[in-house]
Amino acid sequence: MSRPGLDVARVRTDFPILHQEVRGRPLVYLDSAASAQKPRAVIDAISHFYTHDNANVHRGVHTLSERATAAFESARERVARFLHAKDDKEIVFVRGTTEAINLVAQSFGRKNVGPGDEVLITELEHHANIVPWQMLCEQQGARLRYIPVDKKGDLALDRLDELLTPRTRLLAVTHVSNALGTVVPVKELIRRARARGIPVLVDGAQAVTHFPVDVVELDCDFYAFSGHKLFGPMGIGVLYGKKERLEAMPPYQGGGDMILSVTKEKTVYNRVPYRFEAGTPDVAGAVGLAAAIDYLERVGMEAIAAHDRELLAYAEEAVGQVPGVRLLGQARERSGVVSFVMEDIHPHDIGTVLDREGVAVRTGHHCAQPLMQCFGVAATVRASLALYNTREDVDALVRGLHKVREVFA
Ligand code: PMP
Repeated sequence: MSRPGLDVARVRTDFPILHQEVRGRPLVYLDSAASAQKPRAVIDAISHFYTHDNANVHRGVHTLSERATAAFESARERVARFLHAKDDKEIVFVRGTTEAINLVAQSFGRKNVGPGDEVLITELEHHANIVPWQMLCEQQGARLRYIPVDKKGDLALDRLDELLTPRTRLLAVTHVSNALGTVVPVKELIRRARARGIPVLVDGAQAVTHFPVDVVELDCDFYAFSGHKLFGPMGIGVLYGKKERLEAMPPYQGGGDMILSVTKEKTVYNRVPYRFEAGTPDVAGAVGLAAAIDYLERVGMEAIAAHDRELLAYAEEAVGQVPGVRLLGQARERSGVVSFVMEDIHPHDIGTVLDREGVAVRTGHHCAQPLMQCFGVAATVRASLALYNTREDVDALVRGLHKVREVFA
């Protein structure tokens, strides 16, 4: 069942939610790209925080506040090490990938993008990496441009040099597509953009869960991800930003904690990253995220990457053999998801029949409507894989798809 290096049976015992029946069948959870399940270590860390250490951070001199502050700041260090950032002050805690990208759009963007300038994204993006740029471009009179995707789901990189113009102020690109699983060669894109002095934001929501990421090696300016997809809690996420970039950016929101001093007339802003963390942060969320990272590193990111690659190959082969199934996306390198349609059967109907079999998949446009338009479909079925999934889970999905065929025959 498991491959050497990752004991999946053992991993599964760490995730209490997996051991239940749904509609009288054992749960088969294949929707981790939308939100991943949490190991006991994360649930316990959050519970421990609220049971023993809960207080507001940074402001109090009392013991609990000091403990909560220490826990929050040590979570920041944990995230910095996970991303191989040089300095924990390069880690801004936010609500998730969406908020991280909005922060960059409204702070870096409003300062650096003016009328006639361009922001370059790709046709692979999740709405979280489209809409904030559309809003910014509308506000600033700038133009949003797209690197096209080809029929296989790879970016047309032969178009890159022509799309990186003297007006390009930022390139924002996903590391892994949530809808097709395309792994984007971000290192190459970053190298080519930076050669022209253009900063790069990487949306890492679907990448950090599947393989190790090193922001220094990538040399990106910004990197964003969400805790809840990384087996951590909902409501916490991370924006990594190179220190010199963050230091040159104005605040995104105003309020407590992001200030050094306030008079009736004027506010002196706090240093980074606190300048970007107005208001009471999700301390328990940060603690839970740090516990998730500890857990993943105990299991081993390399072992997880190998397991995910092997299981994806198995799933693509097995699902692709079901009569009537058409897989979407044959990009050179893929990670984490199998996206498909079935002749004449609506993805939502497929999802509903699968749910009756205990199999949880996502159906719809996956918040990537421009990409769906490129592929000429309105929606797909997406099965997404994580470290706790097995070949047996994939077999259950395949049995479910045969059932779908019977139901709609
Ligand atoms: N980018 C990608 C690639 C995603 O898959 C998602 C979540 N589906 C997001 C951004 C948005 O993440 P969140 O909703 O956690 O902010």
